[in-house]
Parts: sequence; C-alpha cells; structure tokens
Amino acid sequence: MFKLICGLGNSDLENIKALVKLYAKAGAWMFDVSPFALGVLNEAIIEENLNPNDYKYCISIPIQGDIHGKKAKILQQKCKKCAKCIIKCPQNAIVDFTVNENKCIGCGICRRFCSFDAIKFYDKTDYYEQFKKNIKSNLKLDCVELHACISDKNLVLKKIKKLCKKFKGEISLCVSRKYFSTQDVLYIIKKAEEITKENKAFYIQADGNSMNGANKELSSTIECVAFALALKNLGINEKRIILSGGTNEYTRKLCDKLSINPLAVAFGTYARKSVSDLDKTDAFNFAKKLVKNASGAENV
Ligand code: SF4
Ligand code: SF4
Repeated sequence: MFKLICGLGNSDLENIKALVKLYAKAGAWMFDVSPFALGVLNEAIIEENLNPNDYKYCISIPIQGDIHGKKAKILQQKCKKCAKCIIKCPQNAIVDFTVNENKCIGCGICRRFCSFDAIKFYDKTDYYEQFKKNIKSNLKLDCVELHACISDKNLVLKKIKKLCKKFKGEISLCVSRKYFSTQDVLYIIKKAEEITKENKAFYIQADGNSMNGANKELSSTIECVAFALALKNLGINEKRIILSGGTNEYTRKLCDKLSINPLAVAFGTYARKSVSDLDKTDAFNFAKKLVKNASGAENV
C-alpha cells in the first residue's frame, strides 16, 4: 500500500492540498501531514468529492531532537551568497538567502552543500500542542506517528506512553538504525507493543536514509529495506512494517527480491519532488504508477 508523507515540517498548505488531491485520486492509502495541516488534508479530500473514510489520516509529531522536527536557519553574517543551498533545497524553501519555516522539512541537504558553515538548525517545538488542538477539534484522525530518530530509548518509551494517554487510535513509531542498534529497536518495539495494546493498531515506520528519496538511486533506498529485513528476521510481523526514508521506485522491487512484504511503503521527498515540475496529466500518470509500484511485484 502507498502512504504519502507530505512532510512533518511542511506547513505549506497550498502545496499539501495539491499533493493530497493528486495522490488520493491515484489510489493512496494513507496521508501523513503536519499537525498544522490536518484540516487541509480533509478539505482536499472533500473538494475532490472523495470519501474521507476511504483514506487513513495521519499526523506526525517529533520527539524533541528528531531531525524531522528541525528547521534550517541561514546565519547572514557567515553566508557568502553562493546560492548552492537554494539550488539543492528539495522544498524550494530558501528565497533571498532566508529559509521559509513553513516549507523547510529539516532534511539537512542545504547544510551538506554549504562550504561556509552558514546554516544552523533549531527545533520547532509546538507540534504536540497542535496535536492536542486537533484532538479537541474532532477532525478525523486515524493515526499519530511519533518520530523517534533520537538516541534515548527511555525517552522514546515515555513519549509513547504520554501519547497513548491522549489518543487511542493507531500509533506509528518512526525509528532509525542511525540512532539505535537493531537490538535496541527490537527492545523499543516490544515495549511499545505493550504500551499500545489498547490502541487500534501499532506500526513501525522503518526509516532508512531519512529524507533522501530525491536521489532516485538504488543506494538511497537500500537502508530502509535492509532495516525491514532485519526486523523480519527478528520475528517482527511484516504487516506492522512501513518503509520510509530514501524510498523511491526501487524500494518495492528490492523488497520483492528479498521476499519482504511490508504493510506499506511511505513516499516523501521522492513523491513530492518528482511531480513538482510536471503538468497535471504527467503528474497524475506518475502518481498512479508510483502508487501501483508500492503494491508489490504482482502489480508492477
Ligand atoms: S550555501 Fe551557505 S554560503 Fe552559500 S548561499 Fe547558502 S548559506 Fe550562504
Ligand atoms: S534543504 Fe532541507 S533543511 Fe535546508 S532549507 Fe531546504 S528543506 Fe530545509
């Protein structure tokens, strides 16, 4: 199944609406948006005369320190105006050497290309407060994804507990082997299964090469597939696993080769960036093919 990640840090509501409309018509299963964009997700589905009950609505919230909740800032006193960051930013978030906080997803690509150490990152901290507002608003909300790309196991478990006190729907935990060993991930999953036993479902989003799908290369997706394989070999039910982080058109093919059958493949940067310069028809054809691809070998 296909999950569209609009980007935890992406609060560009116009962009999110257009993406949801496109991928909903193409057959997406789940949409993952910033807590600030839940209303816009619903509006997009309604405006296309689609049934909200045919889709899963998910919001993402980060544990403080997780890269998905970070934002870039250009230090003007150090910036040499070389424009490399502007050219490389997958979100077109940098204009006039200033980062638009609403568009920045914290991917870190700009910093990688800056030779002058002129880009710093900070945590945006109001996601959880917005999640609480979402709960009060009674908007449809099927799943909350907790981004746990940090290196403190106990803090991750504490945050899952806190979340489950407020929300009994589906919980998705986004974890990465960059911060934990595979055994540590297994420990967290086993504990999280206990904590979430009164919730509707519990998924593990196996994050590989975070926010690197725009590379469109086999190498960018290998890490998430290898992670899923490691989890499967440790006895984790594949139908709990969603792949993310560097996912692209190779992800499902690689899964099929290795006989991994995850619940879903989540596409973020690749799905967004690939359609950004296409006209309506080409964008729809691309989206349809990508959604079909996410379903596995029998459909490719
Ligand atoms: S890459 Fe660095 S030096 Fe160049 S424009 Fe961006 S922030 Fe400034
Ligand atoms: S490259 Fe990534 S981190 Fe830098 S401004 Fe763009 S979205 Fe933000």
